[in-house]
Amino acid sequence: SLAGKTALITGSTSGIGLAYAKVLAGEGANIVINGFGESDAIEKERVGLEALSGAKALYCGHDLTRVDQIEAMMSQAADTFGGVDILINNAGMQHVAPVEEFPIDKWDLIIALNLNAAFHTSRLAIPYMKSKKWGRIIQTASAHSLVASPFKSAYVTAKHGLAGFTKTVALEVATDGITANCISPGYVWTPLVENQIPDTMKARNMTREQVMNDVLLAGQPTKTFVTAEQVAATALFLCSDAAANITGANLSIDGGWTAQ
Ligand code: NAD
Repeated sequence: SLAGKTALITGSTSGIGLAYAKVLAGEGANIVINGFGESDAIEKERVGLEALSGAKALYCGHDLTRVDQIEAMMSQAADTFGGVDILINNAGMQHVAPVEEFPIDKWDLIIALNLNAAFHTSRLAIPYMKSKKWGRIIQTASAHSLVASPFKSAYVTAKHGLAGFTKTVALEVATDGITANCISPGYVWTPLVENQIPDTMKARNMTREQVMNDVLLAGQPTKTFVTAEQVAATALFLCSDAAANITGANLSIDGGWTAQ
């Protein structure tokens, strides 16, 4: 049980982040959710999280591309719950363009959100974890923290950086009861992915099955999408005592993608 612990999950108003929030709330942890979206829908999710165990859920809508906003979010979490025991850096975004045409503002935003934000949340959460002699830092990295694909230079750079940052943190806090690990999914079935299918069918004159198998799952040998629940189950395991000696690791959940 995670009763009495507080989990802060960035980018948890949808997709993988929301799946983490649900599984950790189900174990009794207080939850801080973060991300953008329609306020009624977010409030519904927040109340739903509280109903899972009776623990509290707080919504923070801060923009994690800005350092002052990250600091405000971490202060609000500390004021509400006393600190953060489980930190999941999950918020991320993508932009696809050749490097010589890559928009400079998109590069800066992706590095800020997918990489720098994890540095800031970690530096602010670690003192509290050290005082408790217990903590879990988990990053949603990606298969793109291990291998590259063309036209995703900012994303691949940020995710490789995140993997290196995580190893460094793991070494620094190794004797403090704190672990730091990456989870690296391949293609995960989220609304984001599902919504791309109709346009891709039109653009490539393909059936739904062709888009899924020949485009999206081309590099994923199992030919099935990872589910957000499978990613969340791995995070829950990393929070257990059984995983106390898993640190500095990069756990692939990619259907064999990076085995090739
Ligand atoms: P998603 O778009 O469904 O979720 C992204 C979340 O981040 C949302 O809650 C969004 O509101 C939030 N967010 C966006 N910009 C933000 C900002 N500036 N400040 C705060 N929050 C912000 O995407 P997802 O597929 O669930 O992705 C979550 C993570 O998983 C990302 O880091 C992504 O790189 C990684 N990932 C996804 C896949 C996949 O196939 N979906 C594969 C590997 C890794």
